[in-house]
Amino acid sequence: MAEVIMTGVTKVFPGGTVAVDQVDLSVADGEFIVLVGPSGCGKSTLLRMVAGLEDMTEGTIEIGGQVVNDLPPKERDIAMVFQNYALYPHMTVAQNLGFSLRIRGTRKPQVEEQVGETARVLGLTTLLDRKPAALSGGQRQRVAMGRAIVRRPQVFLMDEPLSNLDAKLRVAMRGELSRLHQRYGTTTIYVTHDQVEAMTLGNRIAVLDRGKLQQVGPPDELYAAPRNVFVAGFIGSPAMNLAACRLEDGGDGLTLVLGEHRWPLPDSQLALRPDLRAYAGREIVLGLRPSAIALPEGDPPGPRLRVTAVTVESLGGEKNLLFLSPAAAGRSEPLGAEDEGAPSLWTARLPALTPVRAGDEVAVAVDLSRAYFFDPVSTEALP
Ligand code: ATP
Repeated sequence: MAEVIMTGVTKVFPGGTVAVDQVDLSVADGEFIVLVGPSGCGKSTLLRMVAGLEDMTEGTIEIGGQVVNDLPPKERDIAMVFQNYALYPHMTVAQNLGFSLRIRGTRKPQVEEQVGETARVLGLTTLLDRKPAALSGGQRQRVAMGRAIVRRPQVFLMDEPLSNLDAKLRVAMRGELSRLHQRYGTTTIYVTHDQVEAMTLGNRIAVLDRGKLQQVGPPDELYAAPRNVFVAGFIGSPAMNLAACRLEDGGDGLTLVLGEHRWPLPDSQLALRPDLRAYAGREIVLGLRPSAIALPEGDPPGPRLRVTAVTVESLGGEKNLLFLSPAAAGRSEPLGAEDEGAPSLWTARLPALTPVRAGDEVAVAVDLSRAYFFDPVSTEALP
């Protein structure tokens, strides 16, 4: 096992695309870290540089205390698992599992022992004589995983290893990955764009956007305290609702102005974030998790909204109610993580049995004590 230290890692592709931009990231010995970010943010390129499959333009990568910048992949003591499994079709499962040991000159009895042990751990014992074509997707994925663990490398590098599996298998394999990590404790760097994978597998998550590291931390920390608008909009599903508003100081307290709405800010927010006062008379970005917008049960403090359901998504255990952002009237610019040109919709999370359908008008209560605020220029969260 080993720690992996990336310092100032940068990749500029011929033609000028800056795929990875000055990334500093230390992965502790035995840690499972997940790289997430939207398509094209540079996560695969970063992983491939750690693997040695891609040259760096600048920076240093250390694995287990050794600078590996000039080491070819096979000398880095890493094992990589790809999305497409990359099994040898003409070899049996046993031969696929033992391949990397055989080419390193490991003796036959030892190969057999390690292959046998790996097959037992992954439940592949009865499949050892089959060829990949005669395996299901999940079984192939397990063989690919087995090929990585069979020679006990210092580091596992995984690039969307579950994305070719159906939803149910993905859940099962996620559990299996956690179990393997608990068993072997191998330092793992895992690339995905799947939030649930990131939140459930990672000891820490590293969020990338346009080649730059945005925030690194445990899943709960990223969810509870996103550092900027990008992380706020990216971590959490459904995504955080965001809107640009004005903050006004009416003398007796601060009021948020969103479109035609005026929402007095609760004292708890001001006590928590004294910096809010500096935004009086200016624009500020408001963030609300979907769970902070609910049906008004009893008489909760805070603003009410009458909204028209644009879409209602039933998820079994709960319902997502999508409605036009209260700030949308008069605004044409999309904000933060919203897609360019997409209408600005907000989401409220409602109990499963709420009798609401698309087109219905519903009253919801907004819990401003759970609001987030961001600077509209730097996009950084207010402390
Ligand atoms: P995805 O989730 O879609 O796989 P990613 O976050 O893994 O995306 P990368 O594959 O690392 O992103 O790509 C980062 C950027 O570098 C993209 O803009 C991509 O177009 C560019 N890029 C990747 N490989 C090359 C290459 N060989 N030549 C030129 N540009 C490249």
